[in-house]
Amino acid sequence: MKTNSRVVVIGGGVVGCSVLYHLTKLGWSDVMLLERSELTSGSTWHAAGGFHTLNGDTNMAALQGYTIRLYKELEEITGMSCGLHHVGGVTLADNQERFDMLLAERAKHRYMGLETEIVSPEEIAKIAPVTNIEGILGGLYDPLDGHLDPSGTTYAYAKAARMGGATIDINTKVIETNQRSDGTWDVVTERGTIHTEHVVNAGGLWAREVAAMAGVYLPLHPMEHQYIVTDDIPEIYGRDSEHPHVMDPAGESYLRQEGRGLCIGFYEQRCRPWAVNGTPWDFGHELLPDDFDKITESIEFAYKRFPVLEKAGVKNVIHGPFTFAPDGNPLVGPVPGKRNYWSACGVMAGFSQGGGVGLMLAQWMIEGETERDTMAMDVARFGDWINPGYTLPKVIENYQKRFSVSYPNEELPAARPLRTTPMYDIFDNMGAVWGAQYGLEVVNYFAEGEEPRFETPSFRRSNAFEATRREVMGVRENVGINETHNFGKYRVTGEGARDWLNHIMAGCIPEKGRLSLTSMLSPKGRLIGDFTVSCLGEHEFQLTASYGSQAFHMRWFDKNIADGVRVENISDRCTGFQIAGPNATALLQKVTRDDPETMRFLDVRPMVVGMVECLVQRVSYTGDLGYEIYCDPTDQRALWHQLWAAGQPMGLRPFGMRAMMSLRLDKFFGSWMREFSPDYTAAETGLDRFISWGKEIEFIGKAAAVRERQNGSDRKLVVFKVDTDDADVVAYEPVWINGQVKGFCTSGGYSHYAQKSIAMALVPGECITDTLEAEIEILGKMYSAKRITTPFL
Ligand SMILES: Cc1cc2nc3c(=O)[nH]c(=O)nc-3n(C[C@H](O)[C@H](O)[C@H](O)COP(=O)(O)OP(=O)(O)OC[C@H]3O[C@@H](n4cnc5c(N)ncnc54)[C@H](O)[C@@H]3O)c2cc1C
Repeated sequence: MKTNSRVVVIGGGVVGCSVLYHLTKLGWSDVMLLERSELTSGSTWHAAGGFHTLNGDTNMAALQGYTIRLYKELEEITGMSCGLHHVGGVTLADNQERFDMLLAERAKHRYMGLETEIVSPEEIAKIAPVTNIEGILGGLYDPLDGHLDPSGTTYAYAKAARMGGATIDINTKVIETNQRSDGTWDVVTERGTIHTEHVVNAGGLWAREVAAMAGVYLPLHPMEHQYIVTDDIPEIYGRDSEHPHVMDPAGESYLRQEGRGLCIGFYEQRCRPWAVNGTPWDFGHELLPDDFDKITESIEFAYKRFPVLEKAGVKNVIHGPFTFAPDGNPLVGPVPGKRNYWSACGVMAGFSQGGGVGLMLAQWMIEGETERDTMAMDVARFGDWINPGYTLPKVIENYQKRFSVSYPNEELPAARPLRTTPMYDIFDNMGAVWGAQYGLEVVNYFAEGEEPRFETPSFRRSNAFEATRREVMGVRENVGINETHNFGKYRVTGEGARDWLNHIMAGCIPEKGRLSLTSMLSPKGRLIGDFTVSCLGEHEFQLTASYGSQAFHMRWFDKNIADGVRVENISDRCTGFQIAGPNATALLQKVTRDDPETMRFLDVRPMVVGMVECLVQRVSYTGDLGYEIYCDPTDQRALWHQLWAAGQPMGLRPFGMRAMMSLRLDKFFGSWMREFSPDYTAAETGLDRFISWGKEIEFIGKAAAVRERQNGSDRKLVVFKVDTDDADVVAYEPVWINGQVKGFCTSGGYSHYAQKSIAMALVPGECITDTLEAEIEILGKMYSAKRITTPFL
């Protein structure tokens, strides 16, 4: 066995083998994989081997498309068979909401180049004749769906990796991973120790145990899962061609042909977590005992949907565990706070996602960044607040909702409330309807009177419409207040702070008492942050950005930190309020002896507000005259009472995130992870206007940004007014220009102030004119859209 290797991948399931292959594919051959038993000794061997592209997250869907297309390549490289059955698959919709979801997915696929198709019940009956189409409104057909041989595919990845120079040691259990002071790792196995630069945890069912060896907690949990293989069925073996897959979300089942019969699996409500206190090391090639009790209702439903099943005998039951993260997406990338420790875990659909996970991880490690935004699967999307007590109920919820409709405005209830600010009970008593961001309760809007305390999940306008309108108008016409708790906040101090910020941020770093807006770029010039930088003193700065990206941003800061600079995440140690609207100054004047009138736009000033020492910034994300007032959480309630009491005679109104998102549309303000994400550049999204091209210090991403400035960007962000009825743009809807799909929406919504439906979209530069007219496809319907160039003031 080698004792030195550039990378050690722990775990020889489909994911570990894919990572190993992709490392070699991208040029690293000094890489090895350690497997405690034989390859495929975790979840992999008992998988049903199904694959599909459908995923609510567009980037995940694209990576699933990559994974599926990769299998042919693997077969060609290795001469091995992956046992591919490209039979296609149809997802059924038995109510309008499910059908809406499929229509929305189909619309996204148009721009992604995926050849899916909406099919009628009659077409479903032809494509998948075992389906009883009674009550079915339609379906989404995907020709890429299919299944494969899980072991064959894993061994093909392994062979391809070996052909690229990788080594694989089986029967080699890793028992310790110890980091040296220089950041490299000793991977201790039962057969000796390997010194390595990078460790990849691909431990699958044992990922938690492997992570704990490095002092890491990964939020994932194994769940039991069961599928049934039937005896021969004449309606199946009598066919000329293989029966396609059928996903029946109403019955929480997936069905496909297996030999001369069928195979059907369930995501049952009476699901069960497995190995709550840890995965036993002696678990391997055994299955869990059959358990029909927990799937009785599912089977009964399946008999109605697929009547041939009722007569078919059961040939085999496969009941095994596999892991899920709280949101069902994989946990991939560099683990924050652990240099050169990588996660390739929580992959619940290894045969749809394994290839994409391997590719992203290899790019990240070798090239420093991935080719597309990986936030949906980035291990950093969970912060250090995460723990097993949260993970377990969330994983159960995710399993149960696997086949449920996911709505854009949906707030999932499990494990909440978890993290709250001192304002929680005050706002709750005022009618707050809550959402959760990065584990923190955030007000979406305030219900009044008889209005329900629950927003109806919908693809169309919800019951929050009137409340949102009220709050928007409260801000625009008078003054509104909300919390500033859900900003990520960082304190940057030290002699080298200014120079470091000049290097890490593309924009200008302000003088004392001022703030500036700036993007943070990756070396390839892509957006990895959208920040406000406030200068509090010669060597002291406060940064604000997205609350949900704290671990993502801290990981980047840590990676690029310089001597003489300290960066602290103070997101939860610094809270406060935003007041915005034409009467915001008048309100602030009532509670301070300072003179807010003397604050210019983008000024920053320490100020005693009421009896609380605050930091006040004259800026507002609603685009109105406004102030962000930051304080210590222990003072927040006192600050609230003073502002609220002073604001009552003026008609001060609290507002939530729904109103904030509507208000920003009026001003054409982009939003992090919608318009501004690692998929896009500063020039594409207009953030290049904040780049300080002439500053002396070379900032990260400058060369790429300069190149784009010289050559121009292929696409640009534009704003449309859309003639919709009851549904607005969410994201990724295709933009049709002259009958062709030319662009896609980044976000949108209803502007309650302008009373217009607004969409922001990326469109090729050559199509853009001031009077550009287009059509935007929302839920399967085309709506005319006109470009607007002036924000609603
Ligand atoms: C019943 C069932 C049906 C499924 N059907 C499908 C399907 O149709 N389609 C689909 O895409 N997915 C399906 N899955 C999920 C799929 O099995 C997983 O997504 C996939 O197998 C995960 O692979 P992995 O490599 O991450 O983990 P695993 O397969 O668990 O592999 C982890 C490997 O790491 C090794 N290991 C762990 N610790 C150590 C250590 N300390 N030292 C050395 N080696 C170690 C283990 O021995 C193991 O081989 C199904 C799962 C189940 C249970």
